[in-house]
Amino acid sequence: MTTTGEQWKQIEADYYMQVVNRMPMVLDHAEGTCVYDTDGKRYLDFTAGWAVLNVGHSHPAVTAAIVEQAGKILQMSNLFYTIPQLKLAQILIDNSVMDRVFFCNSGAEANEGVTKLARKYGKVKKNGAYEIITANNSFHGRTMGMMAATGQAHYQDNWRPLAPGYVNVDYDDIDAIKAATNDKTCAVMLEPVQGEGGVNVPAPDYFKQVRSWCDENDLVLIADEVQTGMGRLGTLFGYEQFGFEPDAISMAKGLGAGAPLGAFLCKQEYAVLEPGDHGSTFGGNALTTAAGWAGAKVVVDENWSEKGAETGAYLKGQLTGLMEKYDFITEVRGMGMLLAIQMSEDNAGAVIGETVANGLLLNAVRPNMIRFMPPLTTSIEEIDEAVGILDAALAKVFGA
Ligand SMILES: *Cc1c(COP(=O)(O)O)cnc(C)c1O
Repeated sequence: MTTTGEQWKQIEADYYMQVVNRMPMVLDHAEGTCVYDTDGKRYLDFTAGWAVLNVGHSHPAVTAAIVEQAGKILQMSNLFYTIPQLKLAQILIDNSVMDRVFFCNSGAEANEGVTKLARKYGKVKKNGAYEIITANNSFHGRTMGMMAATGQAHYQDNWRPLAPGYVNVDYDDIDAIKAATNDKTCAVMLEPVQGEGGVNVPAPDYFKQVRSWCDENDLVLIADEVQTGMGRLGTLFGYEQFGFEPDAISMAKGLGAGAPLGAFLCKQEYAVLEPGDHGSTFGGNALTTAAGWAGAKVVVDENWSEKGAETGAYLKGQLTGLMEKYDFITEVRGMGMLLAIQMSEDNAGAVIGETVANGLLLNAVRPNMIRFMPPLTTSIEEIDEAVGILDAALAKVFGA
């Protein structure tokens, strides 16, 4: 006898830590932009596994790479050379302004690594400087260190005292960074566009100003590209959209094409980590980096950053159309395939309940905001279908 969706849900209720209110269906398989539940019902996935599946679910090149690698070698210590991580390293360095990479397993871990690098830089080059300036409404992960970096009370208050050495200031405010800088400061870490914080796009000159300030004060400028990297904003890396070069970046989400993979990269001048300073048992193992390499090759070779930007511009246009139709939509924002709408009431949960019932997965990034982060490979037909479902859901929930 097969276990039904309802039975799986009961098992979750009985056995799993209750840290999330799950969506009502149990998922079984996926392909491209679509996921299917245990009843065979199809959903357009505009969450893309949380901005992870930039080339879509179960891309044949990624599946083939995983299958092939599984038959060869999965895991060894980083004491040994394995080939997939070197192939992926080459693709990332050849297509970025960075010189060196280290692979890990998640976004939080990538940020832990890159902030360790910044602290080491402070230690050896800046007289022991250790403070890292981050932004309010940022999201950098849920480890003990990254909770202190993440400037949102909701991620911090239950876990005080927080790890010391992080200073949270307002985003998109160069004067706030200047005021927080002192002789203990070693780095500034910012998302090119804040994702979990509500898809906040800074002013066009913000990062140029931050770049100048970091140059003047010898601060490591870290771009947290966990969500914005691998083409999400319309270029392979988010920093390209803002015309500056960071000194170091962190990546994860889209990097593994669905395999759990993170990385941090830096320019040669900041490559201060030495043997013994950092490491990871699983980080960059052959399985995850084979998947990541296959996904990265598809994004780069087929130019999905640019194609995704075109599809994203179309989606943004359709959302702007909805804003013109409904005055309860107060703002459409974002770039590339990372977009959000803001509403005048805290109805995002109800709207998404309605879209999910009708076959469209979305994220209520705030009680009054809906975030769109579909695969870069989403078609115009799928965008039209999704906007139709959203339109009907908005009309129903707002009684328009
Ligand atoms: C998701 C995210 C993280 C954390 O990544 P995990 O893999 O969940 O640890 C860090 N930074 C940004 C910008 C993110 O979007």
